[in-house]
Amino acid sequence: MKTIGLIGGMSWESSAQYYRIINEGVRERLGGVHSAQSLMFSVDFGEIERLQHDGEWRVLTDKMIEAAQRLERGGADFFLVCTNTMHRMADEVAAKVSIPILHIADPTAEKIKAAGYNRVGLLGTAFTMEQDFYKGRLTAKHGLEVLVPEADDRAVVHQIIYEELVVGRVLAASREKYRAIIQRLIERGAEAIILGCTEIMLLVQAEDSAVPLFDTTTLHAEAAVEQAVEG
Ligand code: GLU
Repeated sequence: MKTIGLIGGMSWESSAQYYRIINEGVRERLGGVHSAQSLMFSVDFGEIERLQHDGEWRVLTDKMIEAAQRLERGGADFFLVCTNTMHRMADEVAAKVSIPILHIADPTAEKIKAAGYNRVGLLGTAFTMEQDFYKGRLTAKHGLEVLVPEADDRAVVHQIIYEELVVGRVLAASREKYRAIIQRLIERGAEAIILGCTEIMLLVQAEDSAVPLFDTTTLHAEAAVEQAVEG
């Protein structure tokens, strides 16, 4: 079995889900008391969040490179960044280590295409919904058409992530807001919805949407299991 490297802590609420899903997946695949061989380098999200909102992407990139290098030195065979947002610098980070990155958008897009969908709604942080690093990969590499919520809705999605979900607050009132935002994306033509922030799965489940949801946390973690066990 390969050793999975995880850059976590963004936030740890979702990293804990990665850890659970990866270990459950390996047990399912290998049976008995098997579990995943993994390393996680978990950051202080307080510092990361401040740098994100200050636009300090150069500093953040260096931090992600350092984290990936720690995983490489620790013996990871490949690595995951356990957040969509911090894939903004995925290419630069991957270039600074010799182990491969498993990019979060790829297993997500593969599943969407395999299910026969083309036009997807994307929920995530403002960085993920508004900048090109994520939507661009979905369109250029995978040929998907990506819709994001209107500006007011994007602000609500972003605020609920940073003020509630990353600190483990899962509120029914916020779920209702997400349900309405998902419905508006569906009315604009979304055939499926990407939960493009790794904490959204804590709040929103299949019953909250009239179209299928593609949860990046689960799909990314499951792809890591495949890569670890197959290779
Ligand atoms: N976990 C989130 C994501 O998937 C947001 C936290 C972060 O900014 O990394 O984008």
